[in-house]
Amino acid sequence: MTSTLEAPRVFGQAERHAALHAYEMDRKHVFHSWSAQDTLDPMVIAAAEGAYVWDGGGNKYLDFSSQLVNTNIGHQHPAVVAAIIAQAAKLCTIAPSYANDARSEAARLIAERTPGELDRIFFTNGGADANEHAVRMARLHTGRQKVLSAYRSYHGGTQLAINLTGDPRRWSSDTATTGTVHFFPPYLYRTAFHSTTAEEESQRALEHLEQLISFEGPATIAALILESIPGTAGIYMPPPGYLQGVRELCTKDGIVFIADEVMAGFGRTGKWFAVEHFDVVPDLLTFAKGVNSGYVPLGGVAISPEIAATFGKRAYPGGLTYSGHPLAAAAAVATINAMEAEQIVQHAAHLGEEVIGPALRGFTERHPSVGEIRGTGVFWAIELVKDRVTREPMAPYGSTSPEMNQLVTECKARGLLPFANFNRIHVVPPCNITVKDADAGLKILDDVLFIADSNTAGA
Ligand code: PLP
Repeated sequence: MTSTLEAPRVFGQAERHAALHAYEMDRKHVFHSWSAQDTLDPMVIAAAEGAYVWDGGGNKYLDFSSQLVNTNIGHQHPAVVAAIIAQAAKLCTIAPSYANDARSEAARLIAERTPGELDRIFFTNGGADANEHAVRMARLHTGRQKVLSAYRSYHGGTQLAINLTGDPRRWSSDTATTGTVHFFPPYLYRTAFHSTTAEEESQRALEHLEQLISFEGPATIAALILESIPGTAGIYMPPPGYLQGVRELCTKDGIVFIADEVMAGFGRTGKWFAVEHFDVVPDLLTFAKGVNSGYVPLGGVAISPEIAATFGKRAYPGGLTYSGHPLAAAAAVATINAMEAEQIVQHAAHLGEEVIGPALRGFTERHPSVGEIRGTGVFWAIELVKDRVTREPMAPYGSTSPEMNQLVTECKARGLLPFANFNRIHVVPPCNITVKDADAGLKILDDVLFIADSNTAGA
């Protein structure tokens, strides 16, 4: 597993100067995602290795965010870096219409790991375009237009993908013309169905979905897209029977079931794909991020034989200049091989069962600010509340708060890069973080939660 780096990095005058220049040019010329540009103060990352990053001043941070939950094998894995260098020396780029050894091998390795017979791989540049293409395939396969997706979800930033998205990032771009209809997913802690048990929540969420399908008209619905375990929206573990129930509803009405595994896939949940926890095989499975830890942009769609057959004699009307780009594909091959060789998926499962899960359960006992914890593998959310009785969140839905900002600041001051969203801190370090480093990060979280506790009712 990734070793703790004991050797100090040398940050001299030249490195500090370069970091300052990077910052100044960023503020002058770079337009950042999802941000009001004038309010930004981005940290310069000057170096990274394993579970660690260094800022421009040479300060070291434990990366408990895996950046945007993509560096599943940590930063600068030597085998992946070497594979990218070797591929660059051999062949940097080739049009998608040609066959290429790196792309073919990446497709084989992915197809062997996806569940069921999802054996055909269409490569994209990332997660949003994977979902766009999955929906296009579903529409052409069924001859229907409508797509169902869950509130409390994220499917990407492009036009259709942002309209599929259930979280507030959709609102400013919601054209209401993309044929998307949203449903309530199960979420027992803030149940929309007045449920008291996980079983009840599962059954009622399925009844709601069944009704929604019948009122929308089953024959008008091309696809249902669902994150197998929703990620940025809050890491909600599907209750017993839910995903199986969704599968059955889709099968009954000929609706294509798209599992979005962009964040949950490639080891994050302690299995190659999160659907494996629930014994469910979707018709299309989308992936990105962990497929090559984001070292070179890559995403894709794993396709069932039935849907692949639709495009056997009839051309699939879609493509990208960089579909299956050799550098990205070579990085995927090296990543998957390293994950096998180092048993990284098994390690992620072990971390969830023996290290992170028990530690977070301890937080629930010690910290009144912790409303609920949930997750598996290295995919966990801590939901923070101002009041455990009323469950008032530590930040409103779709926003942040001084209390949450303070938590993030305190984590960074202690050398931890956290992943924060609304009233939640997600515990999402690389899948190959050492137990020692995971413990160290959890200890920092434990310390800062005592500060959050002082913002709770009765404190
Ligand atoms: N789907 C899920 C579940 C995601 O978490 C993300 C990104 O965070 C996406 C899709 C979009 O991926 P990308 O940013 O690569 O377009």
